[in-house]
Amino acid sequence: MNHTVNNDTGGFEKMRQESLLLAPQDACNLCNGNEAILVLELPPHRLVRCRQCGLVFVVPRPLLADAIKIYDEAYFTGQGPLGYKPDENYLGDESRLELFVERMLSIERYRKPPGVMVDVGCASGFSLRAARDRGWDCLGVDVSEFAVNFARERYNLNVFRGTLPDALLPGESVDVVTMWDLIEHVPDARRECVETNRILRPGGLLALATPDADFPDPDPGSREPAKAAFWQADPGEHLQYFSPATICRLLHETGFHVVNLMSFGVGDRRMGSMEVYAIKTQRILPPA
Ligand SMILES: [Zn+2]
Repeated sequence: MNHTVNNDTGGFEKMRQESLLLAPQDACNLCNGNEAILVLELPPHRLVRCRQCGLVFVVPRPLLADAIKIYDEAYFTGQGPLGYKPDENYLGDESRLELFVERMLSIERYRKPPGVMVDVGCASGFSLRAARDRGWDCLGVDVSEFAVNFARERYNLNVFRGTLPDALLPGESVDVVTMWDLIEHVPDARRECVETNRILRPGGLLALATPDADFPDPDPGSREPAKAAFWQADPGEHLQYFSPATICRLLHETGFHVVNLMSFGVGDRRMGSMEVYAIKTQRILPPA
């Protein structure tokens, strides 16, 4: 058996861990590597870290059709085993709008309205409302039938149900694409970035937020033993865990130049997550 030491200096404990050989369908989404280190087991899931590039991800990787089934009404209303907590009042918490107004200000350092903005994983539409109020021409995209209907009926938003590639948007027709807390939920984050590259105009902006896998546990010792090794672990919904290094690599390889990366610490409601703003600098051809 091949044993190795995990020398990561971020949020992972240093420990001797086995090297795993991944099945072809579970190969790393970032570098296609098939050798990984076990980070933790939360049955029925395993979290592994690619030995080549450091990306952390769930194996076995669910099929897209299965991954999207969880985003039903119970997910958004806190009635189900996954998703928002019952006391979070996600749909009614209007203070969330402030966060998206702040994000719009970060976007508008690089691109100003008017223009076309596509919000992927728009859920009930907080981000779209913030953008529409500021003069953007907005389209939302989400796989959740419940969220899409809610956004349309409650807020009269323009929303497509499906994935971004499903929407078949014309090439180079969009000024800004946003993915707030989206790429950790999709089985193939590279596919989302390649499609984003295709639909953005030259110089267009991609803005995203995702957990920062390198962020150290802010409350070590308080976790259940299974999660102590990786406090961000949420394998029922989060399938890939990016660090600043791995997200920058993915964006670079899909034709973007990162112009701003912020990681949020203790005291911020975004603690443990990062926001990344990247300009399309190169046209990438989708894989054949
Ligand atoms: Zn890799």
